[in-house]
Amino acid sequence: MTNKENKIYLDYAASTPVDRQVFEAMKPYFSKKFGNPGSLHQFGQEAVKGTDLAREKVASAINADFREVIFTGSATESDNMAVRGAIKKALREESFEDQPRIIVSEIEHEAILETARDVEQRGVDVVYAPVDEDGFVDPEFIKKHLTESTVLVSIMYANNEVGTIQPIQEIAEIINEFRDDSIYPIFHTDAVQALQFLDCDVEKLGVDMMTFSGHKIYGPKGVGVLYINRDKFSPNENPLDPFITGGGQEFGLRSGTENTPLIAGFGKAVELIEENKDKEKERIKDLKNKLLSNIKESISDVEVNGSGDQLPNILNLYFPGLSSEDLLIKLDMAGVAVSSGAACGARAAKQSHVLKAIGMSSKRIDSSLRFSFGRPTTKEDIENASKIIKDVIK
Ligand code: PLP
Repeated sequence: MTNKENKIYLDYAASTPVDRQVFEAMKPYFSKKFGNPGSLHQFGQEAVKGTDLAREKVASAINADFREVIFTGSATESDNMAVRGAIKKALREESFEDQPRIIVSEIEHEAILETARDVEQRGVDVVYAPVDEDGFVDPEFIKKHLTESTVLVSIMYANNEVGTIQPIQEIAEIINEFRDDSIYPIFHTDAVQALQFLDCDVEKLGVDMMTFSGHKIYGPKGVGVLYINRDKFSPNENPLDPFITGGGQEFGLRSGTENTPLIAGFGKAVELIEENKDKEKERIKDLKNKLLSNIKESISDVEVNGSGDQLPNILNLYFPGLSSEDLLIKLDMAGVAVSSGAACGARAAKQSHVLKAIGMSSKRIDSSLRFSFGRPTTKEDIENASKIIKDVIK
């Protein structure tokens, strides 16, 4: 997107602008349809209609049931809910006597990794699944580490820094085979970066829980979803124990008055993705390939970080001998916004744990940048950005 000041935004993996149609869908719920969805009168019913419609749209996009879609305050909250909620429930069960185990990959978003570290300090046995040099988890590693006391396996669908797409179906099959009659281990995947481009049919994938975020899909910030498979659990039992308790909203799993405008926006954003998923995927892939070939033409020693099955919108590049921090600032001043990794890591000036996990040296990590493309990105943006990158580096 080239905005008024001619800036080119190439950081859509960090956040996307709210689509105009999404914005329009949200508007009535701020004012006219302001009722509390918990109220029985018509104002309340109007608000419920909005959240119901959004829930239906999300459920239909991922082939789930209405009651399996839980709206939360962010993907971070959904990830927390999956990890903490599953452990909380298991610990309450009499049959669960051992120290609970969870398995997460080393390249998860901090929303999972920090939560895993936190529960680890409270006595949970956490296994961190490594990735190979391309950025893939080995399903056999997970198979080897499944035990009777494994409550949860959480492996992200697509990585937010290098874009690698994990073999979710294969991991689900391994877990399904292992668990026999038990509900454990529950299989969760963070699909925040995947929803835009990949098939998120929960039945096909075989996952039990799945996380999404509004602001990565041209929806608003501050709203997320946790999909929860209810087939596995008896109809009146919640598959997780809630960690936000109160009025019992969201089927008792996430109390607090529903944020109707944001939820309506989420529903609309999902609907818009579904209308154009495959075409947009191809368009974005072409833009990514074009930027890569343009950069390689002028800077021949550039290398791509991560390879194989990757998202079309993320390009992580190593610029030998250059400082990514320096480059990022110079590019920003020249009007191109990119990132050196996840937005949360950037503020904390932390080195990317993802690049580290794929075996990269500190030097290489300090010379790597992430470019990510989105719906507003045009061919012209790519050509202009390529020229600016070339000028800044020479
Ligand atoms: N998971 C992944 C893979 C992400 O990329 C992000 C956002 O950066 C999150 C979780 C957190 O999303 P939210 O900002 O909605 O908490």
